[in-house]
Amino acid sequence: MTAPAPDAGDPRLAQLQQRLGAVRERIGAAMAAAGRQDAAPQLIVVTKFHPAEDVTRLAALGVTDVGENRDQEAADKAARLADLRLRWHFIGQLQSNKAKSVVKYASAVHSVDRAQLVAALAKAVTGEQERTGRPDLDCFIQVGLDDGAGGHRGGALPSEVPALADQLAAANGLRLAGVMAVAPLGAAPEPAFEKLAAIAGRLRAGHPLATGISAGMSQDLEAAVRFGATHLRIGSDILGPRPALR
Ligand SMILES: *Cc1c(COP(=O)(O)O)cnc(C)c1O
Repeated sequence: MTAPAPDAGDPRLAQLQQRLGAVRERIGAAMAAAGRQDAAPQLIVVTKFHPAEDVTRLAALGVTDVGENRDQEAADKAARLADLRLRWHFIGQLQSNKAKSVVKYASAVHSVDRAQLVAALAKAVTGEQERTGRPDLDCFIQVGLDDGAGGHRGGALPSEVPALADQLAAANGLRLAGVMAVAPLGAAPEPAFEKLAAIAGRLRAGHPLATGISAGMSQDLEAAVRFGATHLRIGSDILGPRPALR
């Protein structure tokens, strides 16, 4: 089943179009300000807590990549919207026992932060590949950039990245895509993204194809672009505030 296609008189469609355009302009301006000549980062529109109808509208506006952070919600939307052929990015904390569900719909997981999860994803994706022939799963290693162990926004310690990268690179069905981080709350994002860029550089030394840097949200996309982000995860500046959590 598919959500009905949006019609041109739909005010929400017009609003999403306007906000999407504004974000695309910000990305273009940030690329220019950073003097970056490489390809513009991949925009991932984070649709968590917003209804499937909004995802349909975004697809009609040319969005190809969407992000979700809860398996149940993502699985429901992805099943309902399978006809849209979107790429679904899983960006939230992931329990190993959800790996089997996530590999049914996700093209990428941005929140790989521990060896046990790598093993669970590898097992799940190879099983899924036998059934459906799905492509390898792109995996970003989430790095915690809070000072102190791990930090409340999640992620592996920078010192844990090399071993996780080797494990990922050796695993069947997984592709080591790069690194991901969320800037620490209540601090300037630039030092955090600069640190992430350095970690990404060290990763590439051993894994030249792992060029991805998933960084940048609504509030800090300019800083992320400045420090080399290849993937931006933008939610509220396109979809508006998320409905309050109950
Ligand atoms: C919600 C979320 C985003 C999007 O954040 P906005 O501030 O709404 O743009 C990006 N990354 C992660 C990991 C998220 O959970």
